[in-house]
Amino acid sequence: MDINTSIEQIERVGPIYLKRLKKLGINTISDLIFHFPSHYEDFSNIIPILQVKLNETSCLQGEILEIKNTRTWKKKMFLTQAIVQDKSGAIKIIWFNQPYLTKILKSGDKVCLAGKIVLGKSGLYLSNPIYEKLPPSSDIKYFRTDFIHTGRIVPVYPETEGLSSRWLRMILKPILERLRYKIPETLPEKIRKENELLGISEAIWQVHFPNSKKLAEKAKERFAFEELFLIELSVLKERLKLKKEKAIPISFNLELTQKFVNSLPFKLTNAQKKCAWQILKDLEKSRPMSRLLEGDVGSGKTVVAVITALNVVKANGQVVFMAPTEILAKQHFNEVRKLLSPFKIKIALLTSKEDKITSLKLKGEILEISQNKLLEKTRKGEIDILIGTHSLIQDKVKFFKLALVIIDEQHRFGVGQRAKLVARGTDAERKIPHLLSMTATPIPRTLALTIYGDLDISILDEMPKGRKKIETKIVSPEKRKETYEFIRKEVKNGKGVFVICPRIEPAKNNNGGEDVLGWAEVKAVKEEYEKLKKEVFPDLKIGMLYGKMKAKEKEKIMEQFKKGKLDILVSTSVVEVGIDVPRATIMMIEGAERFGLAQLYQLKGRVGRSLFQSYCFLFTDLKSRKIQRRLRALIDSEDSFKLAQKDLGIRGPGTLEGIKQWGVPDLAMENLKNISLVEKVRETAKELLMESPELLKYPLLLEKLKTFQRKIHFE
Ligand code: ADP
Ligand code: MG
Repeated sequence: MDINTSIEQIERVGPIYLKRLKKLGINTISDLIFHFPSHYEDFSNIIPILQVKLNETSCLQGEILEIKNTRTWKKKMFLTQAIVQDKSGAIKIIWFNQPYLTKILKSGDKVCLAGKIVLGKSGLYLSNPIYEKLPPSSDIKYFRTDFIHTGRIVPVYPETEGLSSRWLRMILKPILERLRYKIPETLPEKIRKENELLGISEAIWQVHFPNSKKLAEKAKERFAFEELFLIELSVLKERLKLKKEKAIPISFNLELTQKFVNSLPFKLTNAQKKCAWQILKDLEKSRPMSRLLEGDVGSGKTVVAVITALNVVKANGQVVFMAPTEILAKQHFNEVRKLLSPFKIKIALLTSKEDKITSLKLKGEILEISQNKLLEKTRKGEIDILIGTHSLIQDKVKFFKLALVIIDEQHRFGVGQRAKLVARGTDAERKIPHLLSMTATPIPRTLALTIYGDLDISILDEMPKGRKKIETKIVSPEKRKETYEFIRKEVKNGKGVFVICPRIEPAKNNNGGEDVLGWAEVKAVKEEYEKLKKEVFPDLKIGMLYGKMKAKEKEKIMEQFKKGKLDILVSTSVVEVGIDVPRATIMMIEGAERFGLAQLYQLKGRVGRSLFQSYCFLFTDLKSRKIQRRLRALIDSEDSFKLAQKDLGIRGPGTLEGIKQWGVPDLAMENLKNISLVEKVRETAKELLMESPELLKYPLLLEKLKTFQRKIHFE
């Protein structure tokens, strides 16, 4: 038996359990031993019966004096009652509804028992303990390490239907004993030594059946390191691969760029100039640019993207611009059209209704043509900039000479989607378009380098001048009325108000499935809308918006809100990304505690886009310290990057969009928030790739990396 042996060959695993294991993705011994416990129970302290205390979980060892089944009259419940004795005394044991126990445990048996001490009518008894039979003959020496379910630190596995921790322990223990010191080491020895990591065989043993809590920690440390290491290796290798690809070089057109900058109604910030410069310089190379433009909400990323697009179009390349929502795509279409109106450029919006693309709109006077016409024009190179949503990824969208891919709010897309869009533009000479990705999700640099490790990074670290600080407040239930009055006053002065409803935990449906259609959200919005309309602001014009609405309808509502035909917009967090309504000055968030910090920050960024004072009100009924601390962080922080660092500390990286979908193993996920560890691992991975770029010197590591990459889909 070795780690590649399939689980079919394990004795004691019958067809039913085989099926259950496979359902968990466990096919080989390796999968099985890498199925880690979620936590441990410490039963290592075996005490004399005389010393048991009420309500304490205790582990005892003794001989069964008698054992029998009874039945309670009232509840018709089976009770298995026993008396167990050691040198110090005896105690009663009661198991509930496990009558088969009398077939396993007989009087005279030596047992170890772990459970809670409870007070009954006739004194203390041990309730429903975990049991373990010990060898009968006293001349067999029983070591601490021989225990499986009691008498030691015991592993508890993530709860899964039909696979109990008891069963897993029973199957795993003999396998681990046979494999001990025979599991091939995947981490190079040098790296293990330098970082004081346990060897793989020892770590596997200690993670399942630890000799001490400290060793269990050491074992987890090793696997966390290894998982992060594999992530970094994947990302860095991807980057090396990209460096070898070819792209169409775009020469920087100074005169044109100056003309564009002069046509703007505002002056570019220094940060915008610096980033545009970095991008344009990068485009001149004959290898594809792959760059992330990271900038706070409202820092003006769109203009930077447009400068880039303009240069590409004037060098005879096509540009495709993808946004995560229809509303945002439409907004970009209008904005880009406005910004580029002095230049003769054909800009089109690919809209999708239901799942088929229906219409196209061209510059100047808006022209509507059929979907097929638009696709044909794009294919012939008659469209310069094509803007749209995910629908741009479809096979039927083809280009004549795609030279630049722009992705807005990239954290909303998977790496796979990014790659697919880029692939749409790969030409016959295998030249790849340049990629400009944009995000406002503030991610600390190291983490960004890890998550988006195949990208170079430009940061817009400066806001346009003249923006006022958004006044942010936590509103307790007592202050609700007062706040409504304030809102009414602002509306009377012509301001717009967003009301955001919390994400409702979707009720599981009858099949136990998720609420994929998001009906819970729709309900929350409708209820709030009715309440505001009927009870709170019957005199104001209120509209509502949610993700499931038809695109046309959404557009109409947004338009009305922008123009001031609606005073208040009740919405889900669909407005979270990118929406630009300068007349809105109040962001009111219901159930603020249900949102992540990064998300709250995005929502807050929907106001404060004009010269007027803006406000963000966080409504919460909960007074828990942790929640207050999190919401405070939003108030105190002006720098979204510092804020992200805090959120990472409080909630962990699982909250970051884009990373959740990866399927990163739990341990690695947990450790991504340990920035200094991530940094160390990243450096180690770099050094190793420098020494052996294809990892040929480390065949076992390479093999592990391949398996890892197959399991975790970076999207
Ligand atoms: P984001 O980075 O969040 O995508 P946008 O590109 O939507 O930000 O820009 C936010 C707003 O700021 C827009 O209304 C835009 O016209 C405006 N803007 C962009 N750059 C500047 C600048 N340098 N000075 C003043 N306003 C600017
Ligand atoms: Mg934007």
